[in-house]
Amino acid sequence: MDIRYHSTRGKEEYITSSQAIIQGLAPDGGLYVPETMPKLEKTLEELSFMNYQQVAYEVMKLFLTDFTEEELKECIQKAYTEEKFDDEEIVKLVEMGGTYYLELFHGSTIAFKDMALSILPYFMLTAAKKNKIKEEIVILTATSGDTGKAALAGFAGVEGTKIIVFYPKDGVSTIQERQMITQTGENVHVIGIQGNFDDAQAGVKAIFHDTELNAKLKKHGYCFSSANSINIGRLIPQVVYYVFAFTRLMPECANFVVPTGNFGNILAAYYAMQIGLPIHRLICASNENKVLYDFFETGIYNRNREFLLTSSPSMDIVVSSNLERLIYEIAGEQTGELMKSLSEHGTYQVTEEMRRKLADFYGGFATEKECREEIKELFDKEQYMMDPHTAVASAVCRTYRKKTRDTTDTIVVSTASPYKFGRCVLEAIGQDTEGMEDAKMVQKLEEISMVKLPKAVSDVLNAEILHQEICSKTEFQKVVQDILKID
Ligand SMILES: *Cc1c(COP(=O)(O)O)cnc(C)c1O
Repeated sequence: MDIRYHSTRGKEEYITSSQAIIQGLAPDGGLYVPETMPKLEKTLEELSFMNYQQVAYEVMKLFLTDFTEEELKECIQKAYTEEKFDDEEIVKLVEMGGTYYLELFHGSTIAFKDMALSILPYFMLTAAKKNKIKEEIVILTATSGDTGKAALAGFAGVEGTKIIVFYPKDGVSTIQERQMITQTGENVHVIGIQGNFDDAQAGVKAIFHDTELNAKLKKHGYCFSSANSINIGRLIPQVVYYVFAFTRLMPECANFVVPTGNFGNILAAYYAMQIGLPIHRLICASNENKVLYDFFETGIYNRNREFLLTSSPSMDIVVSSNLERLIYEIAGEQTGELMKSLSEHGTYQVTEEMRRKLADFYGGFATEKECREEIKELFDKEQYMMDPHTAVASAVCRTYRKKTRDTTDTIVVSTASPYKFGRCVLEAIGQDTEGMEDAKMVQKLEEISMVKLPKAVSDVLNAEILHQEICSKTEFQKVVQDILKID
């Protein structure tokens, strides 16, 4: 069956999956959603005998119906290779103290965004070809750290694309900066900006909306696109690992605990449930920025609150963009109104009837203290080392079990390698890191963790610095024009 996509804010326009991947966001500001939910065609038992790439095909073909079998399989083959992932299974499921941890950090940037950003470039190229787009694709991204490197790694060397990443010069960790400025590839450009993440994001947005510049670009054979997490090309690849993980265990039913920021990862779990995975509870884990916890508790979403910096920065978010797709499931045609209220007043409330449809979800949160205690607890008891994002989820899992006495098999989604947030992890387990440099810190981690230093980290520590360009907040357009050699 062909699945078409329409905006969460209205059904005036139906487009194919490849068109939705190219467009990213709908013109009315909404997000693209499938018109109906497909169902898995293979039984769970059949899927349990397949490898990651085969499961990926079975899941992706349900949603990306205008891609041919050959096209999809080629995208999958190019994305999930042993060159890009340090584990041949692509993801790993480990059991620690009665809980399962689904490690999604075995890709080239050791965080879960690799799972989708390694395949997105191939989706985009295929989609451009299908829709007879002749221009070369230029990806523009503003990053606070993780997305930038994952997008660079995904697009590096992919013919027919260029990528330009802007990051706040003094607003990312030293390892994150090193990861970006050592990125190889003829088609990659990395620019540090004198400003914060919001400045970077505003600058990129302004370029996207600059019609004059876009026209010029087209004349020179280029078009802009984004690798943002609202793109269905990032969402669909994330459904795969839920099906894969479940079918490795084959329980009757399972819970997933997902460390959540923009609501993309947990929404993919919800889609996995919709296509037929027997999931009992989807547990949404927040850090101290607990806007989602409050939403599940009260039915009120309210972004008017203080923004807190925590040790799980990728979850420091007050507007979770992908939540709009869940709101569409429960509110249908009223979604546009609720989103209007969000942008005008910073808040909206769903009705009791809508709330009842959220029964599959459970919201929890962990404080900074609980997160650090959880890292220490698992390290002391099991010698298992977790990054702070995973620890938030693990702590929420613990409180959930205590409160509900639910004994269903539970899988905690592990989104980053502890090496990516080494300082926080070392401090949590009682090590003194004062004045310690990255190289030393990483060495210390390897000594005490017995987890082999990922190649992604050792490579970065030794690699040559290739990008040193810095620009001010007002020079974005000039920088882009210089890179593309247009005047
Ligand atoms: C992006 C990210 C998250 C949050 O995922 P969402 O899809 O935005 O909810 C959690 N952990 C890590 C390490 C991330 O990079």
